[in-house]
Amino acid sequence: ANTMADEVAESRKAAAKKMEEAADAGEPTVFDKIVKKEIPSNFIYEDDDCVAFHDLSPQGPVHFLVIPKDRAGLSRLSKAEESHKALLGHLLYVAQQVAKQEGLVPGGFRVVINDGPDGSQSVYHLHIHVIGGRQNMCTPA
Ligand code: C5P
Repeated sequence: ANTMADEVAESRKAAAKKMEEAADAGEPTVFDKIVKKEIPSNFIYEDDDCVAFHDLSPQGPVHFLVIPKDRAGLSRLSKAEESHKALLGHLLYVAQQVAKQEGLVPGGFRVVINDGPDGSQSVYHLHIHVIGGRQNMCTPA
């Protein structure tokens, strides 16, 4: 028999699948709108390929996201192909650069990428979470 918890999990999976399909069909994600400045945000870093900005719902004293301007098919990390290696490396490099800029070094920080419904991914536009300012005891929701 289906429990309430099963039904909640199923509906979350169905909603995630829809968002992933919309992103893969080229519909703009909330992060595309942030990149295009259709949604206001304060970039703490920007280059040709990516931007970083503070998370709306911080999971620590400092919590920012690094996102590619062009998702290039990366609605989620598990869509990565050989051709994405340079972009993925760049995003990780920028994550630690901005962490230094935001004063998280030498204390250190945490880097998280959520993938898919079981990874609690909520925005289907690849992004790296950088969380610092304290020791993090749990994963960001
Ligand atoms: O990895 P996941 O997809 O779960 O995380 C999405 C993150 O994007 C959340 O931490 C959420 O607070 C953040 N967000 C944001 N600004 C928005 C929408 C989501 O900072 N407009």
